[in-house]
Amino acid sequence: MRLERVELRRLRLPLVAPFRTAAGLQRDRDVLVVKVTTDLGEGWGECAALGEPTYTSEYTEGARHVIRRHLLPRLLGRELQGAEEVAEALRPVRGHPMARACLEMALLDAELRARGEPLARHLGAVRSAVDCGAAIGLKDSIGHLLEAVEGALAAGYRRVKLKIEPGWDLEPVQAVRERFGPIPLQVDANGAYELGDLGRLARLDHLDLLMIEQPFAEDDLRAHVELARRLRTPICLDESITSARAAATAIVLGACSIVNLKPGRVGGYFEARRVHDVCQAHGVPVWVGGMLETGLGRAANLALAALPNCVLPGDLSAADRHLAQDLTDPPVMRDGRLPVPTGAGIGITVDEERVSEFTVELDVVGPERPAPPRP
Ligand code: MG
Repeated sequence: MRLERVELRRLRLPLVAPFRTAAGLQRDRDVLVVKVTTDLGEGWGECAALGEPTYTSEYTEGARHVIRRHLLPRLLGRELQGAEEVAEALRPVRGHPMARACLEMALLDAELRARGEPLARHLGAVRSAVDCGAAIGLKDSIGHLLEAVEGALAAGYRRVKLKIEPGWDLEPVQAVRERFGPIPLQVDANGAYELGDLGRLARLDHLDLLMIEQPFAEDDLRAHVELARRLRTPICLDESITSARAAATAIVLGACSIVNLKPGRVGGYFEARRVHDVCQAHGVPVWVGGMLETGLGRAANLALAALPNCVLPGDLSAADRHLAQDLTDPPVMRDGRLPVPTGAGIGITVDEERVSEFTVELDVVGPERPAPPRP
C-alpha cells in the first residue's frame, strides 16, 4: 500500500465537565485526528496525546509538528506491504509513540477497510462486548467524590478507579469503601509518589483494592519492586510500559503483576498486541486504559480490549461520559459493557461534518499540486 495524502486536523472538543488532574483543570479535549488517503482507500487515526505534556512528554502541538516534519516525509509515497511496516519505516525517529501510533492506526484502518476485515478480528479478539470501568479524577471534596462514584455505579460501570495523590489518598479511598462496600475499586497515582512514601501507600493495603496503578515515576522500577514486595495489593504499571520489552523487564523484576495497555503509549496497535502477548505468557493480566479518546480512538480500543488476556475492566466509558460532542455516534453501554465494533477497519463511521465543525487547525500534506497553466 502507498500513502498518498493526509489531512491532519487539530480539534477542540468540549468536555461534559472540567476534568481535574494533578496537572490542572482540562476544559476541552485538544486532539489530533488524521484522515489518510492511500492507493487502497481512506482511513482514520487519532493521536492519544493530550493538549499539554502532563501525562507523558507528548502533547498535541508537538505531535502535529513531529508528524508533519519528521514522520510523514518517511511515509508519503513509500510502498509498504501493509500497516505493519509503518513502525519499521518510522524507526529512525526516536520517541513520539503517540504520533507514530496515530499514523499506523489510520493506515491500518485503510488496509483493513479495503479487505473488509474488522480490526478486532485482525488483532485476534475473542469477545463481542467488553467490561467498562469509570475513571474518576481528583475532586475538591469527599462529598463530590462520593457523588461521582454514585453516578458511575448508577450508570452500570463494572469497576471504579480513583485518581490519588499525596494528600488525597487514604481518607477519600476509605470513604468510598465505607460508603459503597465491596465494589471493584482501584486507584491510580500517575507517578505522584516517591520511594519515601512507601509507608503511606502501605496504608491502602487493607482496603481490598484491585490494584494500585503507577504509584511512582515511570523510570523508577525499583520503587515499584519495593512496594510490590511489601503489599498484597497488586501493582499495575501504566506510564512505565513503553514497549513489549519494557513490559517483560518490569514483570521479570517484580515491579508489577498487572499492566495497563494503551496503544498510543507503546507506539501503536501492533506493539500493543505484543505487550498483551508478553503479559499473557507471564500470566500477567492486562486491561485497556483511556486517554479521553473520541469515539474513533475508543472504537479501536474496544477491539484491543476484546483480546483474550484483557480480563479486567478497562477505562472504556462511552465517549459521551467525557465529551459533550463526539465524532461518531457514541456506542451504547448495556449492563456495563460496550459492544466491539464489527465493521471493516476500525468499524465506525466518522461524522465528517462534525470533524470540520470542531477543527481549529488543518494541514493537508500530499503531492505538490501541478502549477496552474500559464496564460
Ligand atoms: Mg494510569
